[in-house]
Formats: sequence, C-alpha cells, structure tokens
Amino acid sequence: MKWYTEQWSDDCRFSLRYNEQLHSEASPFQQIDFYKGDDFGTFFTLDGLMMVNEKDEFVYHDMITHPAFATNPNIKNVLIIGGGDGGTAREVLRYKSVEKVVMVEIDELVFRLSQNYLPLTAAGVEEDPRMTMIFDDGLAYVKNARDKSFDLILVDSTDPISVGEGLFTTAFYKECYRVLTDDGILINQHESPYFTEYAENMRKAHTKIKNIFPIASVYQFHMPTYPSGHWLFGFASKTFDPIQDVKATEWNNFGLKTKYYNTDLHVGAFMLPTFVKEKLANEE
Ligand code: SAM
Repeated sequence: MKWYTEQWSDDCRFSLRYNEQLHSEASPFQQIDFYKGDDFGTFFTLDGLMMVNEKDEFVYHDMITHPAFATNPNIKNVLIIGGGDGGTAREVLRYKSVEKVVMVEIDELVFRLSQNYLPLTAAGVEEDPRMTMIFDDGLAYVKNARDKSFDLILVDSTDPISVGEGLFTTAFYKECYRVLTDDGILINQHESPYFTEYAENMRKAHTKIKNIFPIASVYQFHMPTYPSGHWLFGFASKTFDPIQDVKATEWNNFGLKTKYYNTDLHVGAFMLPTFVKEKLANEE
C-alpha cells in the first residue's frame, strides 16, 4: 500500500493512497511527480504539493472560469497565467464566443507531462486554433504586454513560494490592471482562510489587490484535496460587480453543462463566513 502525504500544517497531514508512481522528474523550476490511484485517479504534485487530481479537478476549473463569464458574457480575449495542467484553458475554450486565449506557463514540462498522463485536462488544448502557448514567467509576460489587451486574466498559479511568488506581488497586480480592458476582470488563486500560513497569504494578497482595483471580492469553494478543503479565488475588476452585475440568464443561454458551477452557487460563493470576512478586512 503506497501513500502520498502532504503536510497541511505543523499539526495536520493529508494522505492519498496510490498504486503506482507514473513519473518523477526535477525540471529547472520544480520537482514534478505523477501518480495513479483508484479513488483519485491520476494526480500530480509540484515540489510535493497537490496540484491536480482526476476526482476533484472539475471543482477548481469550474470555479476559476465560469464566475467571470457569468458576470461579463462578452469576454473575447483571455490570458491564463500558469495553469500548466490545461484544465483552466479547457474550460475557457468551451466558450465559442472566446476569440483568443494566451496561456503563459513557466514550466513546459508540466504541460507536456499533463498531455501524456492527464488528457482529462490537457487534451485538445494546444490544438485549438485560438490558443497561444507561451512558456515563460507570468510576471515578465504581463510587464511586456500591451495596455488594455485582455478582457479576462486567470491566474491559475501555485502558492506564493518559489516560482509562484512573483504572481502575488503588487507589481504583478498593477501590471494586470494595466493590461486589462476597461471592463477587465482578474481572477486569481487566492489561497485559503483556515491554516495560518495560507490565511496570511490570503490576507496579504487581498490587501494588495483592493488597493489597486475598485472592485475586489473573494469567493469560496470546496476543494477536498487542498489544505483544509476550503479554498478561495479573488475576483477583481474595474467595472463589473460579481453580484450586482451577474447575468444568470445570459450565462445559462451558453448551454454549458458544468458539474460544480451554477448561477445560484455563484451568488452563494461570494457570501463568506464571518471569520473570513474579518481576516480579509484586517490590513495589519
Ligand atoms: N491548482 C493549482 C493550485 O492551486 O495550486 C495550480 C495548478 S497549475 C498546475 C499551477 C501552475 O503555475 C504550475 O504549472 C506552475 O509551473 C505554474 N507557475 C508557477 N509560477 C509561475 C510563474 N511565475 N509564471 C507562470 N507560471 C507559473
């Protein structure tokens, strides 16, 4: 019996049983490991941290993608930062109305291995004529991108450590603001309110974002294999409010079948518990 274990905090560990390790390789950026088990299927870790598994990837990829499209159904140009498994691009490409998707992933090996071992998320992504794959640092990319060139930026990143650190900086958020159109929306992987280390990252990111964007909200979802299972995305925008401006009828008219997201849950996801609201409001 083989177990993958992740240390969620000093006092808490999380383990998954697996049958075989499919691949283990150190890229120039991080340690990449792919495993296969019964209940969670194929999953991979970066530097030992759970990234994606076949059992709950639908939750994460639904929730990073669809709330923005339900708020602004006219999104045409999308920038994905990170997202090397391909799942976020897969969901964005389901919108026939989307004209261009640029994905900037720092580690090409993550995507190539996902194409090989995780077709559930990576299959068909690179082949879509609307896709541009760029293997580069996301911070460097936005620094060189043109003003107002994207309607939506999805930051599907790792935690604010190692290569992911730059994606949680004020400089990065300011560049995202400049690169977004006047109706632009930024969605970012926003950590978690439960364990101290993640909650501190969550608070710091929100403090930086709300000082740059006129609208800066946070929404939640259940991610069973991430630390505490309580995970968040940030919703920052120049014009659209994710609750007041949600267009449920228009989004449902897209006719997309989704396993987690729906327009009722959309509203509920922004209704945060008191302890989360208090932590987010705390700028110290
Ligand atoms: N859902 C996962 C999570 O919440 O931890 C993230 C999944 S996705 C695999 C994260 C991707 O971000 C990885 O492939 C990683 O290589 C990429 N990444 C990390 N830092 C980056 C950077 N500075 N620029 C572009 N991509 C980056």
